[in-house]
Amino acid sequence: MTDAAIIVAAGRGLRAGGERPKQWQELAGKRVADWTIRAILRAGLSPVVVVLHPDDMEIAGLPDQVIRVAGGATRDASVRAGLDALDEAQVQNVLIHDVARPCVPSGVIEAVREALKTAEAAAPGLPVTDALWRAEDGRVAGVQSREGLYRAQTPQGFRLGPLKAAHAAHPGGAADDVEVARAAGIPVTIVPGHEDNLKITLPEDFARAAAILGRAMDIRMGNGFDVHAFEDGDGCWLCGIKVPHDRALKGHSDADVGMHAVTDAIYGALAEGDIGRHFPPSDPQWKGCESHVFLRHAVELATQKGYTLSNIDCTLICERPKVGPHAAAMQARMAEIMGLAPERVSIKATTSEKLGFTGREEGIAAMASAVLIAK
Ligand code: MG
Repeated sequence: MTDAAIIVAAGRGLRAGGERPKQWQELAGKRVADWTIRAILRAGLSPVVVVLHPDDMEIAGLPDQVIRVAGGATRDASVRAGLDALDEAQVQNVLIHDVARPCVPSGVIEAVREALKTAEAAAPGLPVTDALWRAEDGRVAGVQSREGLYRAQTPQGFRLGPLKAAHAAHPGGAADDVEVARAAGIPVTIVPGHEDNLKITLPEDFARAAAILGRAMDIRMGNGFDVHAFEDGDGCWLCGIKVPHDRALKGHSDADVGMHAVTDAIYGALAEGDIGRHFPPSDPQWKGCESHVFLRHAVELATQKGYTLSNIDCTLICERPKVGPHAAAMQARMAEIMGLAPERVSIKATTSEKLGFTGREEGIAAMASAVLIAK
């Protein structure tokens, strides 16, 4: 038996402004609904039903594992459609969440699930702390006790079977599922909500939500540095391009010093050592290996660990060969290997003013940075 989730995303949310319903508006680089679905999937709820407006059923970009269900004309009807998609033989509890709450902390979801181990129903709430007024014509006409008052949040959790029965018996027009459950006599336990779990309602709520998501964003940065000496030859592999020169770079692999620095930057961001750890130079199978094998491995490792490569920046340090005429080709090749848009790949060069080993043209050095963002 599992804990399932229903994300109610069928509304048209006009108060939030914008040309599209609020759940499809952009928020910190994704759509509101994408953040909400991500939070629910990360909490380990399964299956996850997303109730969509009938016009949105084919909307692109939702994760494969979510079940799309067409909603009804009212919130109640949409929730009922979502409940009908769940199997009582497999699902014990169902958590119903507003799509407009993309910043729900994992702790709030966990508190609801924990309470459901003993309670018939549980929902997050925050005690009202501000004084409350009654108003008439813009003037305070009286005060209202805040004693025992809570602000209701979601996800609200219930046993699947009893909630289905409660919805079937309800006349409609409920503000939330707690109201439906209570009308059927189901007691609802309050668990602590969170101020971050705001409901996007007004245009200014987008900025608040973006700040909360930015604070929680997992960004990882790594750097890489590499040096290869010159030897006799007719050109150097630099960032995936064979650059004609009167010398070559010496190394166990193709000695692509720039690509090695970038690869090490990605491994560094993952705290996964360097190329030597994954492709030991003592192992003859990597002799003469083309360096894109290493770079692809680092990018795949990042993906496996749940990160997306955001951008890289690489600086080649040498007097010669001149890098400028080849920089655009290097950028395109590196972008292709990493599966990145070229504008996220920076390849530049500097001399060292004839100082040091690079200045004496004994070899080439490269340094690189990489930024990874958790998906
Ligand atoms: Mg190297």
